[in-house]
Amino acid sequence: MKFKLASLLEEPVGSKMSFGIDEAQQELAEDVRVDFVRGTVEFTRTNRGIFAEGQLHSQVQLECARCLETFSQPLDFRLEAQFGSPPIKPQGEAIFPIGVKGILDLTEALREYILLNLPMRPLCKPDCRGLCVECGQNLNEGPCNCARETIDPRLARLKDLL
Ligand SMILES: [Zn+2]
Ligand SMILES: [Zn+2]
Repeated sequence: MKFKLASLLEEPVGSKMSFGIDEAQQELAEDVRVDFVRGTVEFTRTNRGIFAEGQLHSQVQLECARCLETFSQPLDFRLEAQFGSPPIKPQGEAIFPIGVKGILDLTEALREYILLNLPMRPLCKPDCRGLCVECGQNLNEGPCNCARETIDPRLARLKDLL
Protein backbone atom coordinates (compact mmCIF):
# COMPACT_ATOMS: atom_id res chain seq x y z
CA MET A 1 0.00 0.00 0.00
CA LYS A 2 2.41 2.62 -1.24
CA PHE A 3 1.97 6.34 -1.87
CA LYS A 4 4.28 8.62 -3.82
CA LEU A 5 4.67 11.66 -1.59
CA ALA A 6 7.90 13.18 -2.89
CA SER A 7 6.02 16.31 -4.02
CA LEU A 8 4.34 16.67 -0.60
CA LEU A 9 7.78 16.56 1.06
CA GLU A 10 8.72 19.60 -1.06
CA GLU A 11 5.69 21.53 0.18
CA PRO A 12 5.64 23.77 3.28
CA VAL A 13 4.53 22.40 6.68
CA GLY A 14 0.73 22.08 6.81
CA SER A 15 0.27 21.08 3.17
CA LYS A 16 -2.05 18.15 2.63
CA MET A 17 -2.74 15.38 0.12
CA SER A 18 -5.68 12.95 0.24
CA PHE A 19 -6.08 9.54 -1.31
CA GLY A 20 -8.95 7.12 -1.56
CA ILE A 21 -8.10 3.56 -0.57
CA ASP A 22 -9.78 0.53 -2.07
CA GLU A 23 -7.59 -2.50 -1.50
CA ALA A 24 -8.57 -6.02 -2.47
CA GLN A 25 -8.17 -9.14 -0.35
CA GLN A 26 -4.63 -9.60 0.92
CA GLU A 27 -2.52 -10.92 3.70
CA LEU A 28 -1.18 -7.91 5.60
CA ALA A 29 0.92 -10.34 7.61
CA GLU A 30 0.99 -14.05 8.41
CA ASP A 31 -1.62 -13.51 11.11
CA VAL A 32 -3.79 -10.84 9.46
CA ARG A 33 -5.85 -11.64 6.40
CA VAL A 34 -8.15 -8.84 5.27
CA ASP A 35 -11.02 -9.17 2.78
CA PHE A 36 -10.67 -5.49 1.85
CA VAL A 37 -9.58 -2.10 3.18
CA ARG A 38 -11.52 1.00 2.09
CA GLY A 39 -11.64 4.62 3.09
CA THR A 40 -9.60 7.78 2.76
CA VAL A 41 -6.19 8.75 4.03
CA GLU A 42 -4.99 12.30 4.38
CA PHE A 43 -1.27 13.05 4.53
CA THR A 44 -0.08 16.29 6.15
CA ARG A 45 3.44 17.66 5.81
CA THR A 46 4.84 18.25 9.31
CA ASN A 47 8.19 19.54 10.49
CA ARG A 48 9.18 15.95 11.26
CA GLY A 49 7.96 14.34 8.06
CA ILE A 50 4.42 13.31 7.18
CA PHE A 51 1.42 12.66 9.41
CA ALA A 52 -1.12 10.15 8.07
CA GLU A 53 -4.74 10.19 9.19
CA GLY A 54 -7.29 7.76 7.87
CA GLN A 55 -10.88 6.71 8.47
CA LEU A 56 -10.94 3.12 7.31
CA HIS A 57 -13.37 0.30 6.90
CA SER A 58 -12.14 -3.26 6.61
CA GLN A 59 -13.15 -6.85 7.05
CA VAL A 60 -10.78 -9.30 8.72
CA GLN A 61 -10.73 -13.10 8.72
CA LEU A 62 -10.73 -14.36 12.30
CA GLU A 63 -10.96 -17.69 14.08
CA CYS A 64 -13.85 -17.97 16.54
CA ALA A 65 -12.58 -18.45 20.13
CA ARG A 66 -15.38 -20.94 20.86
CA CYS A 67 -15.98 -23.04 17.74
CA LEU A 68 -12.65 -22.39 15.94
CA GLU A 69 -14.41 -21.69 12.62
CA THR A 70 -13.05 -18.89 10.45
CA PHE A 71 -15.40 -15.96 9.99
CA SER A 72 -15.36 -12.39 8.65
CA GLN A 73 -15.35 -9.58 11.19
CA PRO A 74 -16.16 -6.04 9.97
CA LEU A 75 -13.77 -3.46 11.37
CA ASP A 76 -14.00 0.34 11.37
CA PHE A 77 -11.05 2.23 12.73
CA ARG A 78 -9.15 5.46 12.68
CA LEU A 79 -5.49 5.41 11.78
CA GLU A 80 -3.06 8.11 12.90
CA ALA A 81 0.62 7.59 12.22
CA GLN A 82 3.66 9.77 12.00
CA PHE A 83 6.16 9.04 9.25
CA GLY A 84 9.67 10.43 9.20
CA SER A 85 12.91 10.11 7.33
CA PRO A 86 15.11 8.94 8.94
CA PRO A 87 12.72 7.36 11.46
CA ILE A 88 13.29 8.81 14.94
CA LYS A 89 11.59 7.76 18.14
CA PRO A 90 11.43 10.53 20.76
CA GLN A 91 9.82 9.39 24.03
CA GLY A 92 8.98 5.97 22.69
CA GLU A 93 6.63 7.37 20.07
CA ALA A 94 6.40 5.09 17.04
CA ILE A 95 7.52 6.76 13.85
CA PHE A 96 7.28 4.86 10.63
CA PRO A 97 9.94 5.30 7.95
CA ILE A 98 9.49 7.14 4.67
CA GLY A 99 11.14 5.20 1.87
CA VAL A 100 13.47 6.42 -0.86
CA LYS A 101 12.05 8.95 -3.35
CA GLY A 102 9.35 9.91 -0.84
CA ILE A 103 7.51 6.61 -1.09
CA LEU A 104 5.42 6.02 1.98
CA ASP A 105 4.28 2.45 2.69
CA LEU A 106 1.17 2.33 4.85
CA THR A 107 1.16 -1.47 5.22
CA GLU A 108 3.00 -1.73 8.57
CA ALA A 109 0.98 1.06 10.22
CA LEU A 110 -2.22 -0.49 8.88
CA ARG A 111 -1.24 -3.90 10.21
CA GLU A 112 -0.57 -2.45 13.68
CA TYR A 113 -3.86 -0.57 13.75
CA ILE A 114 -5.84 -3.58 12.60
CA LEU A 115 -4.21 -5.79 15.27
CA LEU A 116 -4.93 -3.10 17.86
CA ASN A 117 -8.61 -3.01 16.92
CA LEU A 118 -9.24 -6.75 16.83
CA PRO A 119 -11.52 -8.18 19.54
CA MET A 120 -9.62 -9.95 22.36
CA ARG A 121 -11.94 -12.93 22.12
CA PRO A 122 -13.43 -13.07 18.63
CA LEU A 123 -16.79 -14.82 18.32
CA CYS A 124 -18.42 -15.83 15.02
CA LYS A 125 -21.74 -14.76 16.61
CA PRO A 126 -22.61 -13.58 20.14
CA ASP A 127 -24.45 -16.82 20.97
CA CYS A 128 -21.94 -19.23 19.42
CA ARG A 129 -22.44 -22.63 21.07
CA GLY A 130 -18.82 -23.67 20.65
CA LEU A 131 -17.51 -27.22 20.50
CA CYS A 132 -18.59 -30.20 22.59
CA VAL A 133 -15.83 -30.79 25.16
CA GLU A 134 -16.39 -34.55 24.83
CA CYS A 135 -16.49 -35.23 21.08
CA GLY A 136 -15.44 -31.90 19.58
CA GLN A 137 -18.55 -31.49 17.43
CA ASN A 138 -19.44 -27.94 16.43
CA LEU A 139 -22.65 -27.46 18.44
CA ASN A 140 -23.82 -24.66 16.09
CA GLU A 141 -24.45 -27.43 13.56
CA GLY A 142 -26.64 -29.38 15.96
CA PRO A 143 -26.45 -31.35 19.21
CA CYS A 144 -24.09 -34.31 19.47
CA ASN A 145 -24.73 -37.70 21.06
CA CYS A 146 -22.93 -36.78 24.29
CA ALA A 147 -25.61 -34.17 25.03
CA ARG A 148 -28.31 -36.84 25.09
CA GLU A 149 -26.37 -39.06 27.49
CA THR A 150 -25.92 -36.29 30.03
CA ILE A 151 -29.65 -35.65 30.55
CA ASP A 152 -30.39 -35.32 34.24
CA PRO A 153 -31.42 -38.84 35.43
CA ARG A 154 -34.38 -37.41 37.36
CA LEU A 155 -35.69 -35.84 34.15
CA ALA A 156 -35.16 -39.14 32.35
CA ARG A 157 -37.33 -40.90 34.92
CA LEU A 158 -40.02 -38.24 34.54
CA LYS A 159 -39.90 -38.81 30.79
CA ASP A 160 -40.48 -42.56 31.32
CA LEU A 161 -43.54 -41.78 33.46
CA LEU A 162 -45.00 -39.58 30.73
ZN1 LIG B 1 -18.11 -19.73 16.84
ZN1 LIG C 1 -20.29 -34.38 22.04
